Amino acid sequence: MSRFVRKFFVPTVCYVDGPPFTPINAMTKVENSVANASENVRDQAQRSESEFAVTESVDHTKVTTAPSAETSPPQSDPPQEDHDAAKSINVSKSEQEVKPECLTETAAIPDRIEMTSEVFNQIKHTIGKKPAETGGILGMSGEKIDHFFYDRLPDGATSVTYTPNCDAINAVLKRWTRKDAVYMGAIHSHPKGYNRPSYADEQYARRLLDNNLNFDKAKPYFYIPIVQPSADATGFELFSYIAYYKNDRFSVEPIDLYIDGQKYEPNISVPLENFSRIRLLFPAEIMSQKTVISIGAGGARSYLENLARSGVGNIVLIDGDGVSETNIGTQAVFYSELGRSKVEAIRERVLDINPEANVTCVAQFLTDDMSDDDFLNLVGESCKKSLKVSPQDVLIVGTTDNFFANARANRLALKYGSPFLGVGIYQNGAGGEIAFTYPGITPACYRCCTAGRYRHYANGGHNDATSEGAPIFSTEVVNGMKGFISLMLLLHNTDTRFGAYLKEYATRNFLQMNFDPFSELFPGIPIGQGKYFEQKPDHPTNGYEECPDCHGTGNLEDVKGSIDDTRKIFN
Ligand SMILES: [Zn+2]
Ligand SMILES: [Zn+2]
Repeated sequence: MSRFVRKFFVPTVCYVDGPPFTPINAMTKVENSVANASENVRDQAQRSESEFAVTESVDHTKVTTAPSAETSPPQSDPPQEDHDAAKSINVSKSEQEVKPECLTETAAIPDRIEMTSEVFNQIKHTIGKKPAETGGILGMSGEKIDHFFYDRLPDGATSVTYTPNCDAINAVLKRWTRKDAVYMGAIHSHPKGYNRPSYADEQYARRLLDNNLNFDKAKPYFYIPIVQPSADATGFELFSYIAYYKNDRFSVEPIDLYIDGQKYEPNISVPLENFSRIRLLFPAEIMSQKTVISIGAGGARSYLENLARSGVGNIVLIDGDGVSETNIGTQAVFYSELGRSKVEAIRERVLDINPEANVTCVAQFLTDDMSDDDFLNLVGESCKKSLKVSPQDVLIVGTTDNFFANARANRLALKYGSPFLGVGIYQNGAGGEIAFTYPGITPACYRCCTAGRYRHYANGGHNDATSEGAPIFSTEVVNGMKGFISLMLLLHNTDTRFGAYLKEYATRNFLQMNFDPFSELFPGIPIGQGKYFEQKPDHPTNGYEECPDCHGTGNLEDVKGSIDDTRKIFN
């Protein structure tokens, strides 16, 4: 245990100019580095959402938009300068790459927390009776949590978020160390309905683990339970969570809690009631079972956040970009997020909207470096299972400005039998398009709908128009329509109003929107309006060459399971 003392009280190499590392310093360091790391992100000027410029005339029975604004396919993660600011902020990178060097990969993550009833009752009568947010720390002298310190706020202090009192905690830890008890967790309370650790709580635990400040390198985990306090103790609940590293990935998950050997089951007051106003339109019970995989998380941000407001329970974000200053004018990002990965920034917001949501971040681009197996492994276990068992519950959304990523996303959806939605915004935000598919319902696939564009790329075509200048308002109108169509796809065949929509649109699964009174790209679409165009599957019987992706049979279920490698778009 002396190792623990040394590690905890000596400044670590990561914080060379700071005071000795304490929990509170870890937090401020994170905050500071957010501001400092912005210069590490590559310039994003060329990666706004507006790349498709329509260069061919539009035949409205067969839309043949061709992209003319090339954006180089993202190849790899942005280069990072190797200094502390980059390291400490680059959270999503570190999910993939950085692991506390002293953690062993074989370390077992427990499947339960054991706690003594004495500690449980202490928590109940301290944190449990105070208004949120108060907290304390947990320690173990054996296999059970048998130490608890209540981190009383100074008299008169009030707090919106719980901030540990470092001096007090360090003193207690010294005392515990003498008794061979070790620091294993931090516990604090949240307001009603917020039953899980916040993003900041997760990062706090992560910093402790990254710096090996929990007690034992053989145990790369840390408990971060959340208390729902109640003045009369009748509504007291404890939700136990564990933060850990496994195979280099940092995760926070619920974990069973046993009090003196007996399983404790909290009464889950799910904040589903927060969504009661929209309950009849799209019931939270249904929405919470749905998954949206978003390939691209730039311009789609408000769409993704609003999916969370609509109760979508599972969101997978795939995007290797970081937030840069050039995004401020065209995407729903903030200065306070500069330098952060886009997927992590969205995750934080989504959890602030629906704390019950599961958000999986993949801070990588969907390139050929990612095989189909890699894709399945990155989207997470529950999404992987849904894709195999109930693919209709998983909506795949291609919302990047990269042709190949969207084309690949369509093939992934066909392969697994999931609904798909592919989005494009035209040059200067003059208009937008959304193609959507649902196996067994829409006869034409995304490739059938946009065959002209595929031909353009197959012949070595590229985009040469500039991608700058799409007003955020164009993006947001498209996001709104994406949301409507997503509900229609996610709720298809349910006993809801939206459940009956899709059949009305089945053969008209290509929407174009016109935002520009001077554009000649949209004959037949009045300014400010959109139109759903009839689409036939690409097949000789319809006068088209057979679609290489869906083969034009008119039933997208026919291709399910038959696409070997979704990367092979043109061969
Ligand atoms: Zn918290
Ligand atoms: Zn097709």
